[in-house]
Amino acid sequence: MGLLSKKTAIVTGAGSGIGRSIAELYAANGASVIVTDIDEKGGQATVDAILKANGQAHFIKADSSKAGDNEKIVQEAVAKFGKVDIACNNAGIGGLAAPTGEYPIDAWDKVIAINLSGVFYGMRYQIPAMLLNKGGVIINMASILGQVGFAGSPAYVAAKHGVVGLTKTAAIEYSSKGIRVVAVGPGFIETPLLTDKLPEEKMKALATLHPIGRLGKPEEVAELVLWLSSEKASFVTGGYYAVDGAYLAP
Ligand code: NAP
Repeated sequence: MGLLSKKTAIVTGAGSGIGRSIAELYAANGASVIVTDIDEKGGQATVDAILKANGQAHFIKADSSKAGDNEKIVQEAVAKFGKVDIACNNAGIGGLAAPTGEYPIDAWDKVIAINLSGVFYGMRYQIPAMLLNKGGVIINMASILGQVGFAGSPAYVAAKHGVVGLTKTAAIEYSSKGIRVVAVGPGFIETPLLTDKLPEEKMKALATLHPIGRLGKPEEVAELVLWLSSEKASFVTGGYYAVDGAYLAP
């Protein structure tokens, strides 16, 4: 028995990094987990790890930036496990680094499509399924960059601020109907989103921006997400919850 026993949870972008940690922790706490990702190999590896640990999981290859794929995820989740109790809209990319006045239009469109529209599309189909189920919890993955700016990342910053606004709006609309909606804001976390793209010295420089003196780990984000997803957080909705080593404190 765990915090999420008998619950069905969707985690998007769960083939790597933070999403994988969330999917594994959800499953370890008793949830049946729908793992979705554009990366089939990564997503299947997450499912295999969960099954190996005697958890329940099912992989759906899906592109979060496509509305139809988000509809398919919810339909398949209901077909497979009977209902949707929890959805963590986590899939996201870092995008290109360039100042606003030079940011390539197609790069902007891509980041907004995955990081912002993807969260809306997810909620667009998760909410009706949760209403049928008389409630649920939606966790949207924002960032510290959903609260403050960051030079060279206009699309990412705009998308993550958008996720925070979208979260507040859905919480106002649906909290009285039994659906809690919250945003989580990690600081810089050691995942392939950073480690695959940034040299060691840049990673060290990013670490110094966190008063705690280091980068975060995906498991540390997953622990907050687990609590927010559980009944223990029954009065928590509409807010933004930082897990950021005091990045936003100064
Ligand atoms: P990650 O390790 O790169 O994992 C993200 C996963 O999402 C990857 O498997 C990726 O596949 C997948 N993905 C990319 N585009 C997708 C799409 N269109 N549809 C479905 N899946 C897609 O990244 P992460 O660091 O765990 O990031 C997860 C979330 O946390 C993101 O929303 C990110 O913005 C947020 N976040 C991260 C940090 C950080 O410092 N790492 C900080 C704050 C917030 P591919 O590998 O094939 O692209």
